Amino acid sequence: MCGIIAYIGTRDATPILIEGLKRLEYRGYDSAGLAVISDGQVRVERAVGRVHVLEEMIQQDGGLPGTLGMAHTRWATHGAVNQANAHPHMDDVEKGHGIAVVHNGIIENHSVLKKYLKDKGHVFQSETDTEVLAHLIGELYKDDLELAVQNALKKVHGAYAIAVMCRKEPDTMVIARKGSPLMIGIGNDEYIVASDQSAIVAHTNQALTLEDYTVARLTRDSFRTTTVDNVPITPEIQELECDLGQIELGDFEHYMLKEIHEQPEAIRRSMQGRIDTATGNVVLGGISDHANELINARKIVMIGQGTALHAAMISEYLCEELTRIPCEVEFASEFRYRNPIVEEGTVVIAISQSGETADTLAALHEAKQRGAHSVGLVNVVGSTIARETDSGIYLRVGPEIGVASTKAFIGQVLVSTMLMTYIGRRRFLSTEHVDRLLGQLDRIPSQIEMVLQLSDHIKDAVARYINRDNWLFLGRGVNYPVALEGALKLKEISYIHAEGMPAAEMKHGPIALIDEGMPVVFIATRNSQYEKVLSNIEEVRSRGGHVIAVATEGDTEIASLCKEVFYVPDTMEHLQPLLTVVPLQLLAYHATVMRGHDVDKPRNLAKSVTVE
Ligand code: GLU
Repeated sequence: MCGIIAYIGTRDATPILIEGLKRLEYRGYDSAGLAVISDGQVRVERAVGRVHVLEEMIQQDGGLPGTLGMAHTRWATHGAVNQANAHPHMDDVEKGHGIAVVHNGIIENHSVLKKYLKDKGHVFQSETDTEVLAHLIGELYKDDLELAVQNALKKVHGAYAIAVMCRKEPDTMVIARKGSPLMIGIGNDEYIVASDQSAIVAHTNQALTLEDYTVARLTRDSFRTTTVDNVPITPEIQELECDLGQIELGDFEHYMLKEIHEQPEAIRRSMQGRIDTATGNVVLGGISDHANELINARKIVMIGQGTALHAAMISEYLCEELTRIPCEVEFASEFRYRNPIVEEGTVVIAISQSGETADTLAALHEAKQRGAHSVGLVNVVGSTIARETDSGIYLRVGPEIGVASTKAFIGQVLVSTMLMTYIGRRRFLSTEHVDRLLGQLDRIPSQIEMVLQLSDHIKDAVARYINRDNWLFLGRGVNYPVALEGALKLKEISYIHAEGMPAAEMKHGPIALIDEGMPVVFIATRNSQYEKVLSNIEEVRSRGGHVIAVATEGDTEIASLCKEVFYVPDTMEHLQPLLTVVPLQLLAYHATVMRGHDVDKPRNLAKSVTVE
């Protein structure tokens, strides 16, 4: 699930691995470890907590010299967070071959395998599923690491990205993937293997993304890729687009703040070449070959998890309004297991920042198997969802490092707005309608710049409520998913309990929570449901709740009803989420800093959720 970085070449591996681990830190993790082959021995160091703890431990122990090594940040799925469970894991201490494994993902049949191995006399040191794989490779090892890995993987169910090395083969590393990303960066007489390109770009922009079921054997100057049955696979080397500047912090204190501020530019970049305001055209190369499937769709199903699901919920309003095609939104995790009805003419749109979200990917497979046409809206170029969908549109918002998604959310809403406009225009939308929409869309980046200036005001407002442990976020229509997103942002990084819901839903239960001074955030912009929202605001006020509103610039009426108002510029109703979410991102950010938590690496969370 979390981070892998491995090195084989002529340079000292440890500094490269530590630097790589730091680049992967943003993905969220609970422990870290590193192993290097030195003087014919595998030397391992592991630590609970941050990478710098591991780094200090290695320094205190006099360093780990060697030119072949691997490192890992763990996000525990099987077994507690402790040193024994941190990776790398070794095969059997007594009768093993000095095989070390780092692994992202889950070995689902670990308990059966463990029993089999225990019966053969293997003694385990940890509670992890990963250690079972290390022992299995050891059990099958007969002086050929590649073959042992291939054979072990034939017996394994689940998801993995792995790197493996063996004391007896100090010039070889074997890696493999199924369902969890892994790539090889190709340098001069060296290879850098990583689960994420951010750990590779500092060294090379030539890379190879492993396909599922691929095993690769790397030596210092060459590599080969095969299936688990040893059938050669021709590698496709690609050029990485991301440069170092995009993944460094610059003048900002946190990645999340940097990414919130990057939103205007991210939107401009995403729209570039896709929107022609002069001709009123939306040009989307990634779907043009499949335009007919989309235009003639009988039903659109949008799937995602977390923030991506909220973007999908906004898209549902856009879809129905702009295309008049029935649209459903569902958690990918629910869709995949409930025997969904996928009739002819169904288009499934999968939304995911990383393009690796395990639940979304599995739901996508399910939908495809049942005959749906699939579209991916993802940020990471070349990611699994991008590769496995029939067509797709990249968000093009640049790398997102902060675990709490901000600019990717804006990108998802923007890209689906463009997609729905594209479909709608080819169905019944008039040129006037499209012109007006694109004209307003074009102004969104500069309007977000204005909203960003509210940062200090929002910070002051948050300070007044920082001791409150329960918040409500309410909105109607397109701003209802924004309320969900506002609540998610606050709880996931500040650990303050927050709930989002449709404003009207409050009186069906949650209104009982409202007491004197409880902060209740309303998204109350001028739109078709404005009057209704005002009534909901009154209901909260009369029970002592303190209303914080996101409202339309110039709305003086609302100020008298609220303790705080964050004004956003006016835009058409369906584009409002692109503006109204920004004050909520800033609110969550400031609350987290004030409470002293780690904004970019919230506890228990990982950036791309590659396990179910
Ligand atoms: N399932 C493995 C463990 O719990 C790997 C987790 C990860 O992907 O970090 O140790």
